[in-house]
Amino acid sequence: GAPPGGLYSPGDPLVLLQVDTLESSVLNSSSAWLVEFYASWCGHCVHFAPTWRALAADIQEWSPAVNVAVVDCADIANQKTCGKFGITGFPTLKVNSVCFVPPTDPGDSIQNLRQSIITNLEMHKETWPPACPPLEPASVEEIRGFFQTNNVTYLALIFETNESFLGREVTLDMLQYENVAVRRVLSSEEELVKKYGVTAFPSSFLLINNGTFSRIPVQMEARSFYTHFLQRLPGVTRGPYMPTRAPDTPIKTTPIPRKPADRSKVYMADLESALHYALRVEVARFSVLTGERVRALKDFVAVLAKYFPGRPFVQNFLRSVDRWLRNVRGSRIPYSALKLVLTNRKEGQAPAVLSNNVTWVGCQGSEPHFRGYPCSLWTLFHLLTVQATRHHSGQKAEDPLEVLGAMRGYVQSFFGCRECAQHFEGMAAESMDKVRSVDEAALWLWSRHNRVNARLAGTETEDPQFPKLQWPPPELCHPCHSVVKRRQVWDEAAVLQFLKAYFSPINIFLNYTE
Ligand code: FAD
Repeated sequence: GAPPGGLYSPGDPLVLLQVDTLESSVLNSSSAWLVEFYASWCGHCVHFAPTWRALAADIQEWSPAVNVAVVDCADIANQKTCGKFGITGFPTLKVNSVCFVPPTDPGDSIQNLRQSIITNLEMHKETWPPACPPLEPASVEEIRGFFQTNNVTYLALIFETNESFLGREVTLDMLQYENVAVRRVLSSEEELVKKYGVTAFPSSFLLINNGTFSRIPVQMEARSFYTHFLQRLPGVTRGPYMPTRAPDTPIKTTPIPRKPADRSKVYMADLESALHYALRVEVARFSVLTGERVRALKDFVAVLAKYFPGRPFVQNFLRSVDRWLRNVRGSRIPYSALKLVLTNRKEGQAPAVLSNNVTWVGCQGSEPHFRGYPCSLWTLFHLLTVQATRHHSGQKAEDPLEVLGAMRGYVQSFFGCRECAQHFEGMAAESMDKVRSVDEAALWLWSRHNRVNARLAGTETEDPQFPKLQWPPPELCHPCHSVVKRRQVWDEAAVLQFLKAYFSPINIFLNYTE
């Protein structure tokens, strides 16, 4: 079934962490925690979720040593904690507090992920979780005295080359089983190789505490065959281990009533929510802004102060933030200092600021993880490119890239969906500098957005009630579509005219703003 708020549900074989369970579960734990910090609005997190779920199922048996969990950083209640863990982009995978080389390509195989977990665990020996078994290769001495020091009936030796993960995987797979131990032995361990007459790598041998041994008979020298064989040995039983499921407290969500929205209009609630989320949530993930990020923030706010057609108090707010940023000397800005400006508290006055919350109207999805913030960000930047054409109408533009450059900088420095940012940067690097006028800038963004729509159409990030169309569809703009030699083509002059009307201040509606 569809998850209530985030991308995962209590039926998934992983732990759903919330602000009150995250720190107590993960820090000071005797096992390793593999946590995916995600944002439910981030398209790549949506693509990645099936992989993460499949990984959790694949290594469920490892759970005394390795737990798989998720945290939704888009949930307002979790935002502070995500900040504390230093999360600045989504998805981010961490092993306890150690950041894990993130193979976030959803096409990446479960096997690669599994192996990089082992590599990550081994790289951080200093934080080796007590519940994790030793995974290093066995020595001659260890094997010689094994049954004297370990009270088990069986010892499985997996002979393999140094690069192979098989021995470590089977060791972890068998963790919950009693009366059997698993060790890997490297092909370079000549004495053992000779003693057992090993000729193939990988291959495995079963040693019994009565002194006998034999090769484990399997159809294929592979993980599931070994595990299957070992789990069924007489006297081998699954131990009393109970996986950590405790933090799965029911998730509280209040269903958001649908707000009727007209697709031919732009809503101020979406735009103001974008401003709030961009400045107070995305930028806030960086406790100190330096270098490129300072520049990106200054450019973004400068463009907002100049072109955002907001309500007067919002315009004042943006201008005061802009003034403050312009006066910043030096190349670092602690977020704590910026925050004071963004909350804009004036002595004895009610704070005349943006709402501290998000309200999606035109950008409301049919489920909480659809649309929302990325939709509002596109809307905001289209609006800004169009506003720039109104400012410059008739005269030669000073800088046709003013708005696009600010968007590019913002997305590069702050947009939490990091793969989205990479894709966008790819498009920008390819052709943004060919833009010669403010009109071309508005059209450039329109056509690149359509490319993104085409790429995402039919994927799991598409809200079924808001299919990713080539926009504007004929019902919004008939003249935008023309036919040349029986092929459907855009009439760009008509598109430009439409963009200017659609993203004009008189088409912005105040429904649901406070
Ligand atoms: P959106 O695509 O967000 O569009 C919002 C609104 O803008 C639409 O409802 C429509 O009114 C209008 N609109 C649509 N097309 C155009 C157009 N061509 N010109 C002008 N207005 C238009 N998601 C991923 O999964 N992978 C990515 O790589 C990715 N990259 C992104 C890069 C950027 C810079 C941004 C801002 C978002 C990105 N996203 C990505 C998110 C994705 O593009 C959508 O924003 C998200 O899936 C929500 O889609 P939506 O249906 O609300 O419509």
